[in-house]
Amino acid sequence: MNIVLLGAPGAGKGTQAQLLVEWLSVPHVASGDLFRENLRNKTELGLEARRYMDGGDLVPDRVTIGMVVERLSRPDCEAGVTLDGFPRTVTQAQALERVLAERGKAVDLVLYIKVSDDTLLKRLAGRWTCRGCEVAYHEVYTPPAQEGVCNECGGELYQRPDDTPETQKRRIEVYFEQTSPLIDFYKSRGLLVEIDGELDIGVVQAGLRAAIGEVSGE
Ligand code: ADP
Ligand code: ADP
Ligand code: ZN
Repeated sequence: MNIVLLGAPGAGKGTQAQLLVEWLSVPHVASGDLFRENLRNKTELGLEARRYMDGGDLVPDRVTIGMVVERLSRPDCEAGVTLDGFPRTVTQAQALERVLAERGKAVDLVLYIKVSDDTLLKRLAGRWTCRGCEVAYHEVYTPPAQEGVCNECGGELYQRPDDTPETQKRRIEVYFEQTSPLIDFYKSRGLLVEIDGELDIGVVQAGLRAAIGEVSGE
């Protein structure tokens, strides 16, 4: 199954995707993680992306689509994928449709994790991310067992430079301008299921799995 997780920055896409892929046994493809990997490796793509990421703006479609399509062409994506943070524009969604169609595939389900702006800001402000495996913790809601250390891999936790208050606000604005049109885009294709993202992580995960079960059981 090819699944898209849709939601504003801080909605819990990454947290939920990590739990889902354990259950589905498909790769978790997160465009933000791919950009950060490029930044760490100081690739040309990473350097180009940084200018946009630091300000909370979207990286241009051309660059983003090329990077994600390359990732999707690797053999581990053959049986399906859980996409997190991509697509973020209608142009990206159209490119994704095209690329999957070329391979006789399609987006099977779009899970829209809905959260209020107030919750988004609280989640982003307290987010600590692992440098090693990109798992997200929250200083209040989901603290690690040992401060500053990842439970999963022992990696160092850090606060992303784009999780500052000004950049958070900008990212949420950008989401409403450029990404939220995808709600109607996927609704009109009958692919969208809305999940209440305000609830506890486990409850949200159960809702996502139930929605996937309904589609895959048909
Ligand atoms: P996204 O990938 O959508 O930006 P994350 O998965 O990184 O969101 O989650 C943002 C922050 O909120 C993280 O600190 C995470 O630990 C926390 N979080 C995620 N889901 C929940 C939830 N259901 N309840 C409380 N905190 C959550
Ligand atoms: P969050 O977890 O807060 O939703 P991401 O890690 O997904 O944020 O993305 C971080 C940044 O990377 C974005 O603010 C944007 O600059 C860039 N980015 C990630 N995915 C995309 C995309 N699909 N299109 C354009 N830019 C993207
Ligand atoms: Zn880790």
